[in-house]
Amino acid sequence: MIHVVKSNVCRLWTETRLELHQIRKSFGNVDVLKGIDLTVEDGEFTAFVGPSGCGKSTLLRLICGLDEITSGQMMIDGQVVNDVPPAKRGLAMVFQSYALYPHMSVADNMGYALKLAGTPREEIRRRVEAAAKVLRISDYVDRKPRQLSGGQRQRVAIGRAIVREPKIFLFDEPLSNLDAALRVEMRIEIARMKERLGTTMVYVTHDQIEAMTLADKIVVLNAGRVEQIGSPLDLYNAPVNRFVAGFIGSPR
Ligand code: ADP
Ligand code: MG
Repeated sequence: MIHVVKSNVCRLWTETRLELHQIRKSFGNVDVLKGIDLTVEDGEFTAFVGPSGCGKSTLLRLICGLDEITSGQMMIDGQVVNDVPPAKRGLAMVFQSYALYPHMSVADNMGYALKLAGTPREEIRRRVEAAAKVLRISDYVDRKPRQLSGGQRQRVAIGRAIVREPKIFLFDEPLSNLDAALRVEMRIEIARMKERLGTTMVYVTHDQIEAMTLADKIVVLNAGRVEQIGSPLDLYNAPVNRFVAGFIGSPR
């Protein structure tokens, strides 16, 4: 099925839905995630927020398949994916620290994973061009990473995920290593990417402002549990408890 989203970008995949049912994760006898239930709807930008150590990265790694779930069920498009390897889940992850290959051009950095996967050269070129356009780095694709600014480099890192045309993008605090001005610039860039691609996104951050400005839905986590799920406005206007109110910064 091909359907058209807000910005008239054609999407070539079907609707995507991510469902977590009673997800638990323990390391040894330490329970890090204590029964997480949530759903991410198609095209939704969902932010996971919560203090450092509450389990955000652990949850993202489970979704990605980089780590094994202790118990519970995870579904993508109605299929249980607990035992599906990362490469077959149709996801792409953007981490907070990104390592670009210094000796490769921007285009080659973006296309490298596709090349390893045996994607034809023409197809790689097409996808790299399209991703560069979305991220507004088309003029820099022949440069080496050292010839780019920090913000441009971070866009290349995001570009590497875009070219894989994932069903879901997973971001783990992608902006937390950038200085304040760059963070604002990249926040706008990610908002544009969301508009243009319309892809389902899960975005981990401990920055409330990022979550409040970017997300359609926010999942507030605390010590391995979900405190509240709602739109930014819901959380601001009707936090369920003091923790959420304090974290979101609303006056309750
Ligand atoms: P966040 O991303 O919200 O800051 P994490 O998911 O990284 O939190 O970590 C949550 C908790 O799980 C922390 O207490 C951390 O020490 C623990 N943890 C994470 N990964 C491991 C691991 N591989 N082994 C043991 N404990 C871990
Ligand atoms: Mg983390």
